[in-house]
Amino acid sequence: MKILVAVKRVVDYAVKVRVRPDRTGVETANVKMSMNPFCEIAVEEALRLREAGAAAEVVAATIGPTQSTDTLRTALAMGADRAVHVLHDPDPARPLLPLAVAKILRAVALQEKPGLVILGKQAIDDDCNQTGQMLAGLLQWPQGTFSSKVLLDKEKQKVTVEREVDGGIETICLDLPAVITTDLRLNQPRYATLPNIMKAKSKVIKKVTPEELSVDIRSDMEVIEVNEPPKRKAGVILSSVDELLDELKNEARVL
Ligand code: AMP
Repeated sequence: MKILVAVKRVVDYAVKVRVRPDRTGVETANVKMSMNPFCEIAVEEALRLREAGAAAEVVAATIGPTQSTDTLRTALAMGADRAVHVLHDPDPARPLLPLAVAKILRAVALQEKPGLVILGKQAIDDDCNQTGQMLAGLLQWPQGTFSSKVLLDKEKQKVTVEREVDGGIETICLDLPAVITTDLRLNQPRYATLPNIMKAKSKVIKKVTPEELSVDIRSDMEVIEVNEPPKRKAGVILSSVDELLDELKNEARVL
């Protein structure tokens, strides 16, 4: 069985994001970019399932500009077998939205015929948390979102997923093929070792365009404006509890 993993190139989680002067989005020029952390967890889970003998091949897929090859190379260096790069260089004012990404991933899934598609639960740049759900809807496959444990039974063609919900853990069982999205606690992704980084250079990355996949990526949604959050006022350091009580009573008026 094959596992398809969707990986997105995003602004590195440690970078303090800045809004572009024209307010069309966040600045990505000269900014460190990395694989979306939830996608790293998705790659790791697919690799663990392959290593446990539950899957035979792990294919990483991304949709993005030429530079997104770096993200695929990271997935390959972690251990993915091969990759698919859907080339798309978006106009910064018109980023590719989750429905378009889901349509493209659907086309890739129909070509690759995986038993399981694993995505991150959300991309840390747009925080949409929509792509996995839309992909499952378009494919009409069952979905296990926010997964914190995945057990694949290849004989019975079923996958059991534990999901963290309010006040507990929900366990669901899905027929394959299925779509899964990863939560933070699913696993701890591995680092790529130097030999594996070298090996990844010779692994195959197939390049296609949305047009070649016959996917219409026109969007029916437009981002009007992106703004920085309001600046917080600086705090004050008080020297005693009496002073604190006085501030709370007479300044903040909460007592
Ligand atoms: P989102 O719905 O945008 O928060 O993204 C959720 C997940 O969808 C990500 O963690 C990825 O697994 C996948 N995804 C979103 N955008 C892309 C993209 N451009 N290329 C590949 N995968 C993507």
